[in-house]
Amino acid sequence: MDMTERKDILSLLPEELEAELAALGQPRFRAGQVFQWLSRGVRSFEGMTNLSKELREELESRFFLYEPKVLSKQVSAMDGTIKYLWELSDGNAVETVVMSYKHGNTVCVSSQVGCRQGCAFCASTIGGLVRNLRASEILDEVLFSELDSGKKISNIVLMGIGEPLDNFDNVMRFLELVNHPKGMNIGMRHISLSTCGLIERFDELAARDLQLTLSVSLHAPDDETRSRIMPANHGRGVQKLIEACKTYYEKTGRRISFEYAMIDGVNDSPEQARLLAGHARAVSAHVNLIPLNHVEERQFQPSTPEHLKHFIKILEDNDVNVTVRRRLGSDVDASCGQLRRKMQKSQKGGQGPA
Ligand code: SAH
Repeated sequence: MDMTERKDILSLLPEELEAELAALGQPRFRAGQVFQWLSRGVRSFEGMTNLSKELREELESRFFLYEPKVLSKQVSAMDGTIKYLWELSDGNAVETVVMSYKHGNTVCVSSQVGCRQGCAFCASTIGGLVRNLRASEILDEVLFSELDSGKKISNIVLMGIGEPLDNFDNVMRFLELVNHPKGMNIGMRHISLSTCGLIERFDELAARDLQLTLSVSLHAPDDETRSRIMPANHGRGVQKLIEACKTYYEKTGRRISFEYAMIDGVNDSPEQARLLAGHARAVSAHVNLIPLNHVEERQFQPSTPEHLKHFIKILEDNDVNVTVRRRLGSDVDASCGQLRRKMQKSQKGGQGPA
């Protein structure tokens, strides 16, 4: 399909769809009908049976529609976590994970094909950035995960492949679409956006006044360590990041959450715990410790249970609100980029990225 000539109808908000259809001489309610079909996962104009044949053909000639295909689906025998690898319209692939908790089902979506942030412990970034996802492609990760799994999605985390703030406009549009009362209607308070700390985007995000949770991947409390494992720290720095978090919190009133992957001998010392506690307190942030997922191509190992315990104790003694992320789906490669990576490797005969 040629996407350069036809518009991506699924990335349009209902009011934009109305304008497009009005230009075709269609009454307002027609846009509602089309939006409803799209929201139900219908991905062909032919299937929109309450529209006239002429209109369906007209739409087909002007707009592009595509249904993501399941390239692989793995269900964890341990906890029911589902990991999808979807094929996109241009043959690229992205991952989506569905996790079930007591309070409902959470979907973890990718925002880019690949990533250019280069974090040293992460599998998603190994082949670099291929392209941004369109709003419609991120939306379809949520919708088709729900349709295929039969699990009603109540929460979304933008913690899959990619850096959401590096695809700012499309991610903002996705949020509007998924939050729309006529669409999936998922509340902003049920959405978390995770960033490696692209602070130049924080003001713009705060200005949107969304009620989502901003998660900041801190992973190290000092510049030396952070720059070593996260290239995004170069030219920005921990102090500026903490200041940006503070401003964001003051502007939005929404508490930030710090993500911190515990890496053996790298960021898990008592001194680093104390530094982290200071940062967390300065911005009233919640700390979410993540047991590091070992990635084949990376040399890092998870912290030992003893170090983790000691680290938590220091945070708690300093009145920091801390949780440890449960490991879900560890038998289905359910962390960033591992499944896509595996597929790339098998296509290239196990040689890794070109
Ligand atoms: N680009 C966004 C989203 C990335 S993935 C960001 O940087 O926040 C979501 C989280 O998983 C991030 O905190 C990321 O640093 C973390 N992560 C990546 N690889 C990991 C690994 N091997 N083990 C544990 N956490 C990892």
